[in-house]
Amino acid sequence: MSSSAPSPSLAPHGRAGLARRGLMLVLSSPSGAGKTTLSRRLLESDAHITMSVSVTTRPPRPGEVEGRDYFFVDAAHFEAMREAGDLLEHATVFGNFYGTPRAPVEEALGAGRDVLFDIDWQGTQQLDESAGEDLVKVFILPPSAQDLEKRLRTRAQDSDAVVRHRMEQASEEIRHYSEYDYIIINDDVAESLHKLTAILEAERLKRRRLTGLTEFVKGLHAAL
Ligand code: 5GP
Repeated sequence: MSSSAPSPSLAPHGRAGLARRGLMLVLSSPSGAGKTTLSRRLLESDAHITMSVSVTTRPPRPGEVEGRDYFFVDAAHFEAMREAGDLLEHATVFGNFYGTPRAPVEEALGAGRDVLFDIDWQGTQQLDESAGEDLVKVFILPPSAQDLEKRLRTRAQDSDAVVRHRMEQASEEIRHYSEYDYIIINDDVAESLHKLTAILEAERLKRRRLTGLTEFVKGLHAAL
């Protein structure tokens, strides 16, 4: 094929990208393992992935922004969304309801964008049933129990009782590591981001996601 020939199956994913299905990247971890920081860094460094913003009945923490960190709703609103089928998955965590609004995810995937989910193991199991092969599941572990406790304690907004409770919950959450495709031990954020980016890049190249591949190869054959 000459370099000036139009190539409709190239893009929308940049220089060498073929058209492909968007993927759903799930990050789960015990609270305090650094998942939120890692998610933010990934979103800053990768233009093709969008965050799924959950709805929750938990009150906002200082610094959290409506519509960026969560949509903060009351229990009645949450129930109404659940009843209407507007949630892709939902779970109760630490006594509060959390759920993933369906419409923005379907919209992003339809446009060939990837979607990042910061959800727990219960939500991941539900997405696994509905999304199957579009799902890539990554579990983040802390390097040690001491490290986890230190991170929980330095999160100033959580009280002693909350920290203790979250340490107990961490043990429960960690039990589910084997349900995930990839494990990252988050010793160093830059290193973990590098690993996460590598996972994402490799998953994007999976043949079954490349909807533009047949056309592209046909074009190659025609020009050979
Ligand atoms: P936090 O209250 O610390 O923001 O979140 C508590 C836990 O709830 C975290 O493990 C987080 O991943 C999980 N979570 C947040 N949003 C959702 C959601 O929409 N669905 C599910 N299943 N879990 C969520």
